[in-house]
Amino acid sequence: MMSASTAETSLQPLVKLLGYARYVFGGLLVITAILLAWQHYGMEKVVELTGDHFPVFIEDDRNGGGASVGSIERRGQDVIVHCHISRKIDWPYCKLGFSFLKGATGVDMSRFDYMTIEGRYTGPGTSRFGIVLAEAEEGLTRLDQWQTYKINQIDALDLPPNGGKLVIPFKWFGVAQWWKDMARPTLEHSAVNVDNVARAEVMISGGGKEGEHIFALHAIRLHGKLISRDALLMGLVTAWVLCAVGWLAILTLSLRSQLRDSRAAVALLRTVNKALELEARDLAGQAHIDPLTGVLNRQGLRAALMSTSSLLADPMAVIFIDIDHFKSINDTHGHDVGDDVLRKFANVIASGIRSSDRLVRWGGEEFLIVCPMTNVFQGRILAENLRHALHQQTWPVGLRVTASFGVAQHHEQDEVGVVIKHADEELYRAKQGGRDRVCAHVPADMVANAEAA
Ligand code: GH3
Ligand code: MG
Ligand code: MG
Repeated sequence: MMSASTAETSLQPLVKLLGYARYVFGGLLVITAILLAWQHYGMEKVVELTGDHFPVFIEDDRNGGGASVGSIERRGQDVIVHCHISRKIDWPYCKLGFSFLKGATGVDMSRFDYMTIEGRYTGPGTSRFGIVLAEAEEGLTRLDQWQTYKINQIDALDLPPNGGKLVIPFKWFGVAQWWKDMARPTLEHSAVNVDNVARAEVMISGGGKEGEHIFALHAIRLHGKLISRDALLMGLVTAWVLCAVGWLAILTLSLRSQLRDSRAAVALLRTVNKALELEARDLAGQAHIDPLTGVLNRQGLRAALMSTSSLLADPMAVIFIDIDHFKSINDTHGHDVGDDVLRKFANVIASGIRSSDRLVRWGGEEFLIVCPMTNVFQGRILAENLRHALHQQTWPVGLRVTASFGVAQHHEQDEVGVVIKHADEELYRAKQGGRDRVCAHVPADMVANAEAA
């Protein structure tokens, strides 16, 4: 009982936890759906490069022998580039630059998906422009040497007409061929990398047309997600795996605990069963035994006859015994002495018969012996021997105890009751004949047979 109740208490929290599991998984499912939808449709992260966030500068082709002249003017949030293109050289340009470097650290654009540019062009040519992202790459760039900055670029872009918004995915960028030819980077430094951009440059050429080109830049913005799709999926998978592992662990513990419980319960049941079985056997045994003498009672004889078919093996003799004048023993010496005599009497008879014989206390001071494989003559001899054995004994308080015997033989076609009745009749005859004697019921045909033999 102890172990069962301890196991119960150790199992309870586990079962409770398993009950919570459905809420945990349900919650996780809802959170997963919300996060995926949010990541897909929202979770926008926007960084503005224009405005006052970073210093801007203007350059033109006069450094390279050209004659174009660029200048900038601020109008509120807008940066207005005036670029006077002169075709003194083949590729005239003005360059609007943004400086990001703070120490050695630029802007990490690798977590963004695309860039938008809002602006308006007016002038004699086209809005044609290019973008350069100059990366300060670890292991490649020396901050004081301009040639060592990796040049990620897109060449020929046009602003949408009427000052719309141009969307430029980062995957459109490539590493400039002229830079690769010049810097000859190793393979690992050859691919596009925008994780530490030192400068962004807008190259304005006005389509190569001479004249005054005006490039009014309203905004350049970087667009990305607060959490990248990959990072979110990784996080969600991790969460699911952790929950599943936890759930499995608790399930295993609880199953193991249940198994232990049922094993304990089975063991307990087995013990109880065994005890009950023993008790039942005990009770059954007691019900068949006469408590005073320890020999079978009538119930016991019935059980023995039913369970042991060999008892009825023919020929079978029955000997009925009744102690002589037993009442006077009781009357003279008391009931206790009477009991002692009964016990001793049963002992003497029991030790004088075969193990296959059954001794029964029929009631009071009357006993019955059932002798399988014994005919009436053999039964009579046995009864005589027993009668003599009684004579040999020393009895309590110096008593002399004798008994009368009636012997009969069972006939196949008869009920057992018939042979007992015959034995009883013989016993009566023995009593009538003067007691301390054996009378046997020998049918006439058996007498003839016996004489013939
Ligand atoms: P008979 O020779 O004719 O058999 O005479 P009897 O006195 O033996 O016969 P009776 O049937 O008159 O007496 C039997 C007595 O046995 C009567 C009863 O009190 C006694 N008796 C029966 N059962 C027990 C018992 O368990 N213990 C004792 N002490 N006496 C018992
Ligand atoms: Mg009697
Ligand atoms: Mg008697």
